[in-house]
Amino acid sequence: MQIKCNVLDRQFQMHQEEYEAAALKVLRSGWYVLGNEVKQFEEEFARYTGRTYCVGLNSGLDALILSVRALGIGRGDEVIVQANTYIATVLGITENGAVPVFVEPDKYFNIDADKIEQAITDRTKAIMIVHLYGQASNMRKITEIAQKYKLHIIEDCAQSHGACFAGRMTGTFGISGCFSFYPTKNLGAFGDAGAVVTDDEAFAQQIRMMRNYGSKVRYYNDVEGVNSRLDEMQAALLRVKLKYLPELNAERKALAKRYHEEIWNSQIQLPECREGSENIYHQYVVRCSRRDELQNYLADKGIQTQIHYPVPPHLAKCYQHLGHSKGEFPITEGYADEVLSLPIYTGMTAEEQDYVIEQINLFH
Ligand SMILES: *Cc1c(COP(=O)(O)O)cnc(C)c1O
Repeated sequence: MQIKCNVLDRQFQMHQEEYEAAALKVLRSGWYVLGNEVKQFEEEFARYTGRTYCVGLNSGLDALILSVRALGIGRGDEVIVQANTYIATVLGITENGAVPVFVEPDKYFNIDADKIEQAITDRTKAIMIVHLYGQASNMRKITEIAQKYKLHIIEDCAQSHGACFAGRMTGTFGISGCFSFYPTKNLGAFGDAGAVVTDDEAFAQQIRMMRNYGSKVRYYNDVEGVNSRLDEMQAALLRVKLKYLPELNAERKALAKRYHEEIWNSQIQLPECREGSENIYHQYVVRCSRRDELQNYLADKGIQTQIHYPVPPHLAKCYQHLGHSKGEFPITEGYADEVLSLPIYTGMTAEEQDYVIEQINLFH
């Protein structure tokens, strides 16, 4: 049997007629960028997250970059961020000339809240939180620290659409919740898309202005903006998918539950669930000290897996100039050597998962 780590057309097929109708409506409308569909999606997504404002953008990376920029964070400033994240999180900081200050993760793959205070300096302006793999970070402790030191919280929710901490949705703890709707995400578009959610009207206004060349009124440019407009096609398709997001997340949770209950292999460490956190399993990430052997073994059985992520940002070639070295963040580097993401996607059949579980349990 051949198992891919992701099969994106299955979720399209589940509601094919609705997607096709939405796309056709946009094609026939004669209006293709920042129109009524975008406006409707922004309202619906704001309501879904429980925030007042949503601004649709071109990507999750833009949501991060523009959030940092709108807060006036730039050269000479520091932003605290977990060391084991996707490169985009860190680019959101460095694209503004600010310096990322890395902090080791906890056993749930999120920032270790107990190590944040020691990373704060008089240049620290914000804490960038990543709810990695779909599990919420320890937001109780993090919010306390942010209040104590008067730091902004920016949340990278690219992997946590609908994930909660203590019943509250990720993306609602700080000034800015940054979302990506890249096709593989839990709420994935059919192309690139992203958004910022916030309760702060002035902040929302600023992002709204920056996404369209810095203008509120056309051809009158108040700030140096960018082009990060969301198009009508993606917005219309996202509106369809958003209706099913609770179901899509429930399906991933059920798949994760089966992995949890049925993988019995002492070589493989299963992911742990943080108390009070509702994990939406963007990825199901196991650890194995013989990770590369496990990955090759599974590949031989026709099972594709992924590594999120093989090189932590502090060791990435592009960040050599930050001057970090190997050994500086041992927990992060250990994760990079040991993590493996198992196939988990909408429409994964019981037979497909049976096969993955069976082969993993036979690994020795
Ligand atoms: C996908 C992702 C991003 C970037 O989103 P894009 O839409 O690809 O720009 C940022 N952070 C994390 C954690 C991600 O997984």
